[in-house]
Amino acid sequence: MPELPEVEITVRRLNAALAGAEVESALAPGMNVMKTFEPPLDSLAGREITRVRRVGKLPIVEFDDLALLIHLMSAGRLRVFDKRASAKDRASRVLIRLTDGRELRLRELGTKQRAWAKLLAADAVEEDESIVRLGPEAWPAPPPERFAELIAQPRHLHPLLRHQGDIAGIGRSWVDEILWEARLSPFKKGSELDPEEVERLRAALHVLGDAIEHYEETIEGQLPDKAPKPLRIHKHEGEPCPRCGATIEAVFFSEHQTNYCPAEQTGGRVLKDRRLSRLLK
Ligand SMILES: [Zn+2]
Repeated sequence: MPELPEVEITVRRLNAALAGAEVESALAPGMNVMKTFEPPLDSLAGREITRVRRVGKLPIVEFDDLALLIHLMSAGRLRVFDKRASAKDRASRVLIRLTDGRELRLRELGTKQRAWAKLLAADAVEEDESIVRLGPEAWPAPPPERFAELIAQPRHLHPLLRHQGDIAGIGRSWVDEILWEARLSPFKKGSELDPEEVERLRAALHVLGDAIEHYEETIEGQLPDKAPKPLRIHKHEGEPCPRCGATIEAVFFSEHQTNYCPAEQTGGRVLKDRRLSRLLK
């Protein structure tokens, strides 16, 4: 599942590879992928890709005065290929064919069709509801007062940090790394933090920047579909905490899990595991 660091490295590499490329044609084999109909997707033909950027976890491909705003959801991937997709490729959602023979492809791994795209006037992107509702970017970290304000809510930190409307870019993997870095329990409420803890949490957002650095140094060209994330805590249950050596624990939910170091994050308490309800399904 791509989160801020993965989308950031994706758009950086696509921007470098695609800026200046001319569109030959554009089509959407994904039946329900386009959420807008005007302007039509084929109006991209003849335009140039001017920039690839992101807001939160949403990539944006700009073509002069038009922009394709994309939501990858959990399984969407945006990559450029040297050759065109076969008509039989069922993963294709949007194909932007370039005059040099390459193809920018929005694909979706797995069987679900949840990724979507909108073709908008470039100057209307920032007004789109999916962008308007986003909180400030998680990286670089918001200013201290802004961050203190958004975190002061009576909600558990784990869902709070993942809620894009409060802070944009963090998902189920990086939230565990951030909370571990800040030595805070995923089940502590935002409104329960003292000012020092708030600042520690804000400072911990640097793990997102570190991850981008890691990808910059280790990935040549584009981010592979299933590039391993440089995670130290998430999905590392049973392993020693890289900082203190205590055993990393997990709490399992129906669709995700959270990992933490009990010695440093929950005052030694091992939280109730909900795995049983998962096994009974
Ligand atoms: Zn530890």
